[in-house]
Amino acid sequence: MTSTQLLSFDPALGVLTDGRWQAGRSGTFAVEDPADRAVIAHVADGDVDDATAAVDAAARAFDSWRLTPPRARSEVLRRAFELMHRDAEHLADLITRENGKSLADARAEVGYAAEFFRWFAEEAVRPGGDYGSAPAGGARTVVTHRPVGVAALITPWNFPAAMATRKIAPALAAGCTVVLKPAAETPLTALAVARLLVEAGVPDGVVNVVPGTDAAGIATTWLADPRVRKISFTGSTRVGSILLKQAADRVVNASMELGGNAPFVVADDADVDAAVAGAMVAKFRGGGQACTAANRFYVHADVHEEFVAKLGAATERLTVGASSDGAEVGPLISASAVDTLEQVVAETVAAGARISHRAALPDLGGHFYPPTVLVDVPADAPILEHELFGPVAPVVRWRDEAELLRWVNASEMGLASYVFSRDLQRAMRLGEAFDAGMVGINRGLVSDPSAPFGGVKQSGLGREGAREGLREFTETQYLSIAW
Ligand code: ADP
Repeated sequence: MTSTQLLSFDPALGVLTDGRWQAGRSGTFAVEDPADRAVIAHVADGDVDDATAAVDAAARAFDSWRLTPPRARSEVLRRAFELMHRDAEHLADLITRENGKSLADARAEVGYAAEFFRWFAEEAVRPGGDYGSAPAGGARTVVTHRPVGVAALITPWNFPAAMATRKIAPALAAGCTVVLKPAAETPLTALAVARLLVEAGVPDGVVNVVPGTDAAGIATTWLADPRVRKISFTGSTRVGSILLKQAADRVVNASMELGGNAPFVVADDADVDAAVAGAMVAKFRGGGQACTAANRFYVHADVHEEFVAKLGAATERLTVGASSDGAEVGPLISASAVDTLEQVVAETVAAGARISHRAALPDLGGHFYPPTVLVDVPADAPILEHELFGPVAPVVRWRDEAELLRWVNASEMGLASYVFSRDLQRAMRLGEAFDAGMVGINRGLVSDPSAPFGGVKQSGLGREGAREGLREFTETQYLSIAW
């Protein structure tokens, strides 16, 4: 597919400010297909002046957008939901080309991403509030939630559509205007989503997009600008921590969705087939490049052999390759991602682990790594301490529940977690003991627009989706009325 067939717009005019599509002041940058490294587009490279122009527009638009009736804001979001479904195949194609994930995963992402527009279209008209009397008398209290202001949104490459809609939708529902910087690896999907928002009737300046290679410059410009009152970031803990420090200078309201290190626990009474099915989703969806991906498997000794045999057989059956060839697992995002995985797997094998199963690798020249199961992994192996962001499943045997909980909670991360047991009460008891923002019980998928997505410890601050996702873009105000 050529880039003209792929795109119905010119990405070199990819800076959107005040409703106008413009060239980037730093020229353009290339976007590659990670399956074959072919350049698929040249995208506007926005600089710090483009970043400021975006805030100019967002600040102007805020005055009227915040006063736009909730129903009208809701209807823009609802139309965006419908337009995403109209263009679902096109969006899925874009995602597979710039991110590399399989077409099935890309289609699922488009559906998930669109749901944020629908969910927050529904939430926009239910802003909530409270009314009460002061206990001592003499006053009534009215509590309202006002939009926080211009919101800076910074998104990663692993879910190019969903990470954008999960932030844009609640911001707009709350009455905020936004400036968005998508990841330089995957800007095309965000531009396509922004075009749909314009088509859906979003007023000029409400949504502004600055793609660019100078991520630090753009972010610093936004966080230093007194008109920006909110930062919502999804990405690595390393960058999240830098942004939090910058946000501290002006006490900017911050929501952070950072790295994970999800444990996947299989108990002795688990339905092993269900656990394997859950593991395949939790581990290999998007090639393991999700912050919710199962990162370390703790399998009870009594079911270890059966689980590994079945997981291994399913892993070996996975087809790896370009999404255009119908493969189930695509390439990793970059050559360095492949290098990192090769190194950590080699170190783990040197420490006594064994590769029990592996899928076959295509000879395509892209950034491919074979889905791999590692067994006999020591419970203190370094591979269990870091987010792998790739299709490798290290498996540890457990017997003692107290020890298992120590292993699970030893991580500084606490985003998703998974537990499989036929005894629901036991699974819930374990899940409640995990230091994690999300627990999948007998399922390998936790993401849902109606549920509060987020983590504890260094996995982040705040929640996205659900009612809480709207609150992240509001500030509570109360009016105390003499009575
Ligand atoms: P990942 O490991 O998923 O690439 P990153 O945290 O590096 O995670 O990137 C997530 C987003 O943060 C991307 O949009 C990227 O361009 C942006 N980013 C990277 N470095 C910085 C930085 N120093 N300041 C602000 N944003 C950054």
